[in-house]
Amino acid sequence: MTKQRRQILVTSALPYANGPIHIGHLVEYIQTDIWVRYQRMHGHEVHYVCADDTHGTPIMLRAEKEGITPEALIQRMLVEHLRDFQGFHIEFDNYYSTNSPENRVLAEYIYKELQGKDLIEKRTIEQLYDPVKAMFLPDRYVKGECPKCGARDQYGDVCESCSSTYTPADLKNPYSVISGATPAKKQSEHYFFKLSDKQCVEFLQNWTRSGALQTEAANKLDEWFKAGLSDWDISRDAPYFGFEIPDAPGKYFYVWLDAPIGYMASFQHLCNRRGLDFDTFWKGTNTELYHFIGKDILYFHALFWPAMLHYAGFSTPTSIYTHGFLTVNGEKMSKSRGTFINAASYLEHGLNPEYLRYYYAAKLNGTMEDVDLSFDDFIARANSDLVGKYINIASRCAGFISKRCGGVIDYHPSAEDEAQKGFFNARFNKAAEKIVEAYENRDFTRALREIMAIADLANIYINDRKPWDLAKQAEQEQVLQTVCSLALSMFKGLTMLLTPVLPTTARAVEAFLNIPALTWDNEFTVIEPNHKINEYKHLITRVDPKQISALVEASRENLKPTAPPPQSQQRHAQHQQQSEVKNMNEKSPSPLTPLDSGSGLRSTSSIPGVVPAGEGIISIDDFSKIDLRIARIANAEQVEGADKLLRLTLDVGPLGMRQVFAGIKSAYDPEQLKGRLTVMVANLAPRKMKFGLSEGMVLAASGEQPGLYLLAPDAGAEPGMRIK
Ligand SMILES: [Zn+2]
Repeated sequence: MTKQRRQILVTSALPYANGPIHIGHLVEYIQTDIWVRYQRMHGHEVHYVCADDTHGTPIMLRAEKEGITPEALIQRMLVEHLRDFQGFHIEFDNYYSTNSPENRVLAEYIYKELQGKDLIEKRTIEQLYDPVKAMFLPDRYVKGECPKCGARDQYGDVCESCSSTYTPADLKNPYSVISGATPAKKQSEHYFFKLSDKQCVEFLQNWTRSGALQTEAANKLDEWFKAGLSDWDISRDAPYFGFEIPDAPGKYFYVWLDAPIGYMASFQHLCNRRGLDFDTFWKGTNTELYHFIGKDILYFHALFWPAMLHYAGFSTPTSIYTHGFLTVNGEKMSKSRGTFINAASYLEHGLNPEYLRYYYAAKLNGTMEDVDLSFDDFIARANSDLVGKYINIASRCAGFISKRCGGVIDYHPSAEDEAQKGFFNARFNKAAEKIVEAYENRDFTRALREIMAIADLANIYINDRKPWDLAKQAEQEQVLQTVCSLALSMFKGLTMLLTPVLPTTARAVEAFLNIPALTWDNEFTVIEPNHKINEYKHLITRVDPKQISALVEASRENLKPTAPPPQSQQRHAQHQQQSEVKNMNEKSPSPLTPLDSGSGLRSTSSIPGVVPAGEGIISIDDFSKIDLRIARIANAEQVEGADKLLRLTLDVGPLGMRQVFAGIKSAYDPEQLKGRLTVMVANLAPRKMKFGLSEGMVLAASGEQPGLYLLAPDAGAEPGMRIK
């Protein structure tokens, strides 16, 4: 089979840097990761990039509340987000931050191109202003009485009681959520992207019907076209955490302008690291670009984004793949019901991340329908499909090969076994073609249904041939070996098909079967004869329903009943603001303190520093809290006015660049340090020093005698690698 090697760039939406990753977010990252792994198994060149979305009012206010800089806040969130993604085997080629030099350059470039095309316009608008806080108030930061029904404590854009929509200026008795002050009306000059421009509308209408969108998404866009496109307000006034607009002091790009540009910036960073050509993917015609997103951010990705790209001279996306929201047991995720579950809590409860990958895959069919996580169904699928059907094939046959056949695969097939093999072969090959199509179209539901039908056949074969009976008859040794060898070959074939969904299990199966990494093959092949396999160890255990109840219990939070439920799993400026507002309304201390990322699950005894003195022993869990990384010293320089310190700029690969002040001046000349590799603590809370922010720590040895010795890894280590 000859096939063209495709060049593909894939993104998932950027999570917002003001909260932890939860199981709602994971729908998208798991969906994307499965698709990316599937493409890689076919030998295509795939680059999967993402980043934290770091700008905007909620980040600014939250950092202020925590008494840290926004930079320190987003740094901490980045480390947490990456840890959570890795925990679910989401394998990005690059994970970056929108608060990066690359993103600033690209955002300014795109803005200037749009300006050059006469698509940017200045207009004076009137907005509500908090006179105490001295800042303009986004809609979600104003509350008051609904102008229609009079309900109290309603947000500035929509009434939770009667669902009317309006502007903050319409609210009766409005107040600022931040200071409680009565907002004043104030004028300000804003910058608009002229989306309603005739050429722009025409371009978007054509693009929408070019096949880049799912039909249901294109239909949604038609509704928006019918309603008429409005110009897009892309500026915000200081104080704001973001990029200042060139030649417009005190005006900043609205977070939603530079967020999607963050896809490009992350890829640019990857290009710099790997020597790839940026323009091949963003200006070329032979490459493919896919954005995986949730339906709540379709407007941004299907209207603003292609228009920005097109008028700035870049290629538009090949496709935008939109999915629905996650519901849990048929309802919105809810903190009071304990179904608002953080990724970290799931893992802390000992649940295998591949259960969730498998479950989401079983539910994702490539449409914009919502995905429901029913706990009963989750337990049933993990236990009956994964363990009962798939793993069971290996666990029933492997022991006979090791104990009775010297661990060697071999075949002495009878006519019956030959017939069975032929039958399985035909069914496998036919199904594989359908599975390829299903994976490609993100219809994972169908792919898994086909795969499980093949697993059923393998189990029927084992039930028919009963290796446990054959094992009791000494003269049946060769038959036993044949049956178990064929069954394990079927298991190998199934593992290949499941690899995109269960990457870690697949690696373990390859080790157990002693075979090289599986690549995609539509033809069923048996494990070669006279091949020695390794001893079977448990690959996946069953879910204990008690683990789920403990997880739900631990995720339960008692909120005031009036608190609005979280509306979305996606990063969405409005919704993020909403959850931020909610936190600010709570009387209890914010759960989002530096020691606790909000899961509410970390017991005090696991917080570093509160272990009773004198014990001196830490658990592996304590140790694994320290995120040690290889870092390349990109730059080292003297710090004016500091006797002991050098300012190091560390390249930590996917974690980006860090500034660290290290007390090693007495031992090292900065010039000597440039370019060498060392070890850093990447998740140390950033510290504000007289000379600037120190974002981590490098490790050095010292003894009784003077002298200081920086640690260095063996050759082959690369920036960003984890030390464990
Ligand atoms: Zn109302």
